[in-house]
Amino acid sequence: MQKKGLLVVISGPSGAGKGTICKALLEQNDFWLSVSSTTRQPRKGEIEGTNYYFLSREQFEDRIAKDDFLEYAEVYGNYYGTPKSKALEAIEKGQDVVLEIDIQGALKVKDTYPEGVFIFILPPSMEELKKRIINRGSETPESLMTRFKSAYKEINYISKYNYAVVNDTVEEAVQKIESIIVAERCRVDRVKEKILDSKEGIIHEQLYD
Ligand code: 5GP
Repeated sequence: MQKKGLLVVISGPSGAGKGTICKALLEQNDFWLSVSSTTRQPRKGEIEGTNYYFLSREQFEDRIAKDDFLEYAEVYGNYYGTPKSKALEAIEKGQDVVLEIDIQGALKVKDTYPEGVFIFILPPSMEELKKRIINRGSETPESLMTRFKSAYKEINYISKYNYAVVNDTVEEAVQKIESIIVAERCRVDRVKEKILDSKEGIIHEQLYD
């Protein structure tokens, strides 16, 4: 039986450091990061197909109509969505897939794909979160206030997640996520079918590979 990959959803308020954590996580592990589609304008240095697939509103809405997204949400006036087929195919092939998405999107994925692993990234403090959003330098004063206010509200959704990771340092946060993934792979509800299927006894490499 082909082992399915894990769907790991890394989510949390804007400025919590999800992007930096995901980048480091991917450098050190064989995970596949889903590239989202968005209608927002590319920021300086962002590359089509690497950071995002940049679409017009019309193109995005066309894909919504075709049910092409695993989830999508409107975040700060722009659409963001996870292309469905590539992510699900990778999981079926046994590849662990990481999504870095906002909270609305994560909750939608939880409804349709509850076996995912839902990790909430918290900033070390709200003061630090504010500094990080300001230091990005890409926000206008209005969008900065919007992001900061919604971060306060969004933290209330933490109870819907499986794990909380505070982003004190990127290194520690990545280590915690790696540990969560190891633990998730060992969960009985993920390996029991393999145990029950095994006619020649259980060999632990077979169980986890
Ligand atoms: P940014 O504009 O700063 O790149 O992203 C804004 C927010 O949208 C971030 O919280 C980011 O995680 C989220 N986001 C990025 N891609 C997706 C996606 O595919 N779906 C959802 N729901 N949110 C996304």
